[in-house]
Amino acid sequence: MNLKVIAFDADDTLWVNEPYFRHTEEQFYNLLGEFSSQQGLERELFKIEIENLSFYGYGIKGFVLSMIETALKVTNNKISTDVIGKIIELGKEMMNQPIELLDGVEEVLEALKDKYRLVVATKGDLLDQERKLKKSGISHYFHHIEIMSEKDDANYRKLIKHLDIHPNELLMVGNSLKSDILPVLNVGGHGVHVPYHITWAHEHIEDTIDDEKFKSVEGIREILGFL
Ligand SMILES: [Mg+2]
Repeated sequence: MNLKVIAFDADDTLWVNEPYFRHTEEQFYNLLGEFSSQQGLERELFKIEIENLSFYGYGIKGFVLSMIETALKVTNNKISTDVIGKIIELGKEMMNQPIELLDGVEEVLEALKDKYRLVVATKGDLLDQERKLKKSGISHYFHHIEIMSEKDDANYRKLIKHLDIHPNELLMVGNSLKSDILPVLNVGGHGVHVPYHITWAHEHIEDTIDDEKFKSVEGIREILGFL
């Protein structure tokens, strides 16, 4: 490998994210328990979230709007303003969560910072991701922060062009095969998958990847073994 840039996904690669969504969803199901089963709520919320991605993109703000829309739907617009207030509060609590770095992250960044240009490539809400990065205390390791509306081939090509490198000089490290690995391999880069124990249903894929530019590791520290 002739790498120049290592790009890291942020949520559930550098720091904990998905468990906060799961926790908030549980509170949301409790708020609406008298109107629908948890399974029914889960199905409706997921459906509305996916439909809303093209309007709001990823992140907490869109998630809050989708919870409110779900509440309206399952209650036939009978939801009380009190419950809507509580849903908005749940979103603000998520935004105020402290940042919990994942095990080994700082050690890896420290070890790689003088050998490669390190960047963050994340999707989500711009303001929210900037706030998390600031709170994380690791922003100084990165030369560039790319906040993408969608992690697709076109946006990775744009990133590669912006970094002024050849595609095979990029390695992307992330927990989502769908967003962090497959599109990067498609455009000619390298990918290392670091699975996280919880993955949002939207990020699930069934494929197995057979590509010489792809590796899967159990923990982020393992990448130091070949970089
Ligand atoms: Mg992620």
